[in-house]
Amino acid sequence: MSAPLAISFLDLKRLNASHEGPIRAGIARVIDSGWYVLGEEVAAFEREFAAYCEVKHCIGVADGLDALTLILKAYGIGEGDEVIVPSNTFIATWLAVSQTGATPVPVEPNLRTHNIDPTRIEAAITPRTKALMPVHLYGQPADMAPLLREARRHGLKVIEDAAQAHGARYEGKRAGSLGDAAGFSFYPGKNLGALGDGGAITTNDEALAAKLRMLRNYGSSIKYKHEMAGVNSRLDEIQAAVLRAKLPSLDADNDARRRLAAAYLEALQGLPLQLPEVVDGAEPVWHLMVIGTTQRAAVQAALTEAGIGHLVHYPIACHQQQAYANHIWPSLPIAEALQHQVLSLPIAPYMTGDDVNRVADVIRKALA
Ligand SMILES: *Cc1c(COP(=O)(O)O)cnc(C)c1O
Repeated sequence: MSAPLAISFLDLKRLNASHEGPIRAGIARVIDSGWYVLGEEVAAFEREFAAYCEVKHCIGVADGLDALTLILKAYGIGEGDEVIVPSNTFIATWLAVSQTGATPVPVEPNLRTHNIDPTRIEAAITPRTKALMPVHLYGQPADMAPLLREARRHGLKVIEDAAQAHGARYEGKRAGSLGDAAGFSFYPGKNLGALGDGGAITTNDEALAAKLRMLRNYGSSIKYKHEMAGVNSRLDEIQAAVLRAKLPSLDADNDARRRLAAAYLEALQGLPLQLPEVVDGAEPVWHLMVIGTTQRAAVQAALTEAGIGHLVHYPIACHQQQAYANHIWPSLPIAEALQHQVLSLPIAPYMTGDDVNRVADVIRKALA
């Protein structure tokens, strides 16, 4: 085993230790209940997460990819359709579209925020376009006002990929309440993370919610009666109990991330780095702390040397992945440039201002 890092990128054990009592009590409740799939815990979490996101409906599903895929399917999007996605995102955004048989149409990000650039969307719309799927990347809401105007003008659905943005706000409204529907992931490293896979859909669209409740459960609302060709994609009772244990602390955890992000911005000020910028009206939740540097290899080497964890989100753009080699993509110079410059620094609710200063000192010396 290698020596433990001075500051790890993300220590899940430490993160969950601060919720240990409620998590153990929740899991024990499920064991004792004798009911393990689609029971009281999932129903209660769905009510609580809908209230948290300030929407009418929440539907628990197996993971974030399924959340996005099922929304598209429920809207009847598939073969021959196009869905606009950011060129710079985790591949799940694109795969959700591909899984339905539709084609992801990439739009480049704004260089300051790394989020989809609303001024580039119109040029990507064709008669086949059915939906826009903005991502609130790194926990910062996409620039939704112009995006929603564009969608309304062209009669398109807006499906938020909110997998990195639990609790973020845009013009006062929660991520997950900004479009027609939203997909969340509860992968362990997300701002609200389970002890395994989990996902959810939020929406105010009653008809969509009813359809999704069937789609996730074999197309059935009455046992052994199947109204549509559904799938098996259910949030399970144990993960729902874990999420219920952690949800009450989400705002405090996000506040801790905000304090750490502010400390990073202050400590790194004046260095030859691209620091994250927050758009007007946005309240990010800092799922990731991503800086840009043309001297990335040197900074990475110095961080590794100092025992500080770091990652790259994301090292290969979606259109350059082997998985998408069968398609001819337009040139996407911004996504292609970003993958060589971005660097994610550790940010987690249990970290201190001193941790941030240690990381910043290493970076300052590496750039000197
Ligand atoms: C994590 C993530 C997903 C997928 O979530 P899973 O639960 O891993 O399927 C989708 N989109 C983005 C932007 C993500 O970060």
